[in-house]
Amino acid sequence: MNKLTIDDKAQVAKELLKEIRDLHTKGESLRFMEVCGTHTVAIFREGLRSLLPDGIELVSGPGCPVCVTDQVYMDKALAYAKREDVVLATFGDMLKIPGTEGNLWDAKTAGASIEVIYSPFEVLELGRKYPDKKIVFLAIGFETTIAVIAATIKAVAQEGLTNVFFLVSHKLVPPALKALLDQKEGQIDGFLLPGHVSVIIGEKPYQFLADDYHMPGCIAGFDGIEILSAIVDLLRQRKTQHFYVGNQYKSVVAPKGNPQALALMDELYEPIDDTWRGIGTIPKSGLALKGPYVQFDVEKQVPLGHIGPTIPPKGCQCGRVLQGLIRPDQCPLFGKACTADHPVGACMVSVEGACAAWYKYGRSSGGLVWEE
Ligand code: SF4
Repeated sequence: MNKLTIDDKAQVAKELLKEIRDLHTKGESLRFMEVCGTHTVAIFREGLRSLLPDGIELVSGPGCPVCVTDQVYMDKALAYAKREDVVLATFGDMLKIPGTEGNLWDAKTAGASIEVIYSPFEVLELGRKYPDKKIVFLAIGFETTIAVIAATIKAVAQEGLTNVFFLVSHKLVPPALKALLDQKEGQIDGFLLPGHVSVIIGEKPYQFLADDYHMPGCIAGFDGIEILSAIVDLLRQRKTQHFYVGNQYKSVVAPKGNPQALALMDELYEPIDDTWRGIGTIPKSGLALKGPYVQFDVEKQVPLGHIGPTIPPKGCQCGRVLQGLIRPDQCPLFGKACTADHPVGACMVSVEGACAAWYKYGRSSGGLVWEE
């Protein structure tokens, strides 16, 4: 696909759009959820919403790892950051996520030891550099990131570092999809399944969508043609009433995923019920370190004690946005009290957040080259 010229791609896109129109029954209202935040951004960048027929709506889902991280977790992160004996290590997009009493950026400005890192493996260097401190890494993310963090924890264990710990809040995508389908509110008619997560888990963990819910799902890549192809796949499944896990990202996603990464995750973690921001507790949707790896769980090894009540930002509708129940611009604070410069909720902070994407690109962002 990469070898196609822009003109070739425009032609393929036109054909896919025609197929979408042919498969869509006029007057039928369909809501397809793009689960992944990177898809949300790609859909805006490629101007796909404006090219789809009336009646097909793309709805953002819970696929932004920073956005779904519960506020209690942020409050714990702040509490660790404020300890004299701790150096907190984190990816940069966590700094501005609101906690009950400010964010990590505020804490850093006030003198807390917070290191922004770009790869989890940098915690090894921090562990060596600050032997008298406890290094606490904010271990959040979906299956894609979990595999890398698991490899990091193994490396810490192999090196024998005893001052490196992990504040774990990993989230698993398939249980979240099940929870969305079990909720009484909202309408979802198919899932554009996340490309990066599927590289790790493969196709099988989504099979319950077809078997138990007769719900179309299709793994999608991130360029316009891959996303349009996945939408065609969803429509075709609906039309034929033959449901399966579609894969329009076969060049990258193997049916069985990445067995080595899955084995590593299985060695280090066990599933637990976990809380998602604004959504609540979803059964078996998180992971906890198990066996000998519990020694790296900061909550077990360096307990915080009482940290005070968690108070969510007033009026923020992140939970409803993440469940696809409202569009970001239907939140009363969107673009008024809540902007990219002054975010109220996590969904406006992260680059993968639905509110941030809607704020940056807007509903009317045009297509790049595919005008019909
Ligand atoms: S616009 Fe702001 S306040 Fe509203 S849901 Fe999004 S992040 Fe929360």
